[in-house]
Amino acid sequence: MELLYNSTRNKDEKVTASWAILQGLAPDGGLYVPGFLPKLDRTMAELAGMSYQETAYEVMKCFLTDFTEEELKGCIARAYDQKFDTEEIAPIQKTEDAYYLELFHGATIAFKDMALSILPHLMTTAAKKNHADHEIVILTATSGDTGKAALAGFADVPGTKIIVFYPKDGVSPIQEKQMVTQKGANTFVVGIRGNFDDAQTGVKKMFGDEELAKELAKAGYQFSSANSINIGRLVPQVVYYVYAYAKLLEKGEISDGEKINVVVPTGNFGNILAAYYAKHMGVPIGKLICASNENKVLYDFFRTGAYDRNREFLLTSSPSMDILISSNLERLIYKTAGEDAKKDTDLMAALGEKGRYEITEEMKGQLADFYGNYASEEETAQEIADVYRKSGYVLDTHTAVASAVSKKYRAETGDCQTKTLIASTASPYKFTRSVMNAIDEKYDAMGDFELVDELSKLAGTKVPQAIEEIRTAPVLHKTVVDVCDMKAAVKQFLNIR
Ligand SMILES: *Cc1c(COP(=O)(O)O)cnc(C)c1O
Repeated sequence: MELLYNSTRNKDEKVTASWAILQGLAPDGGLYVPGFLPKLDRTMAELAGMSYQETAYEVMKCFLTDFTEEELKGCIARAYDQKFDTEEIAPIQKTEDAYYLELFHGATIAFKDMALSILPHLMTTAAKKNHADHEIVILTATSGDTGKAALAGFADVPGTKIIVFYPKDGVSPIQEKQMVTQKGANTFVVGIRGNFDDAQTGVKKMFGDEELAKELAKAGYQFSSANSINIGRLVPQVVYYVYAYAKLLEKGEISDGEKINVVVPTGNFGNILAAYYAKHMGVPIGKLICASNENKVLYDFFRTGAYDRNREFLLTSSPSMDILISSNLERLIYKTAGEDAKKDTDLMAALGEKGRYEITEEMKGQLADFYGNYASEEETAQEIADVYRKSGYVLDTHTAVASAVSKKYRAETGDCQTKTLIASTASPYKFTRSVMNAIDEKYDAMGDFELVDELSKLAGTKVPQAIEEIRTAPVLHKTVVDVCDMKAAVKQFLNIR
């Protein structure tokens, strides 16, 4: 059955999956959502025997119905290959308390690789299918990890250019080094004097700028997005939840049909939304546990039903979750509003104007699948130290937020029997300083790469290729601009006057 997509702000404008991927954001500023959530047509027992690539096909074919089998399998084969340092692609690490689903074995050692390894292939395929004659310009705001993963995915891909904006003082030293050393003539990395929300809002404005769109078209370009507002990011993320359940079943860790809880360290609400979609496809998931850092706007939302971004933006040790406007929440809001585009539009307008909206009691009732909590900076560091001492396993700061929240969930609800799958979103090597300081303060005196070697000894793991690469790599991107000059920077890079 053909699955069409519509904007969260206009139910009547329906587009194909490939068109939605090509566009990124809907023209009315809404996010594309599937007209219905498809069901898996394989049983978990069947999926249990499958490789990551085979599972990816079984999941993605349900969402991307206008791609042929050949196209989809081609995209999957090119994405999930030796770029990953393990054949399993997303291995599961078991400790006494939880299963950690390691999503950081791709080229840039964060979970963004899971989707951004395949997005360039989906997008160039979508461009061909739709006879797009303009060169695609990927415009991206990053809180640290999307930027590098998107750069790695799109670097030197013919017919594309990629521009990444990141908060100059809001990413880890390793994240910044990874981005500013990016090679590829079609890449452009810009630091902004502002935070991630400023970067994301600036990018969204450019997407909605009709005059700019005309200027681009005249120069032979069109924008698209590699952020998780793009359905081509979201769909590949559903895959690993299906895969993880099937693997737990295959290994005899769970029985068929047994419900598991899933904990996701959350920023823009993309990763956890993918888990929600997986649940709707038929994966036996109990609670979807949304873990925030001290920027706990989502925790407050799940408690009260009021989303309020009017608060101080905090810089934490989990920078990829330092976000006050979680874009993908709009897709959940739309769903809980009974797919009422008008209601969604009104709430998003309130968010834009007053920075705040409140959902109805009826909508709140639809959120029972979710549980929200947060971990403070201290609790996050403590969790890294605790898990390391107990099991020798070293968590990154983002995963530690999730791990700490999973314990709070158990203490608060008494639900200790249900097995827990924690999305492990980054390698500890990406946030070495925070991780090592959490384990022992003595590490504070060491340099960034010295710490990397210490971590390797401590965790007994090999330094990832992504880190080896940047030890000596030259800085190739030095542009830093004010938020109000983002558009000028884009035009300059594209040679538009
Ligand atoms: C992006 C990111 C997150 C947040 O994911 P969302 O899909 O934005 O909620 C969490 N951890 C890491 C390491 C990330 O890079």
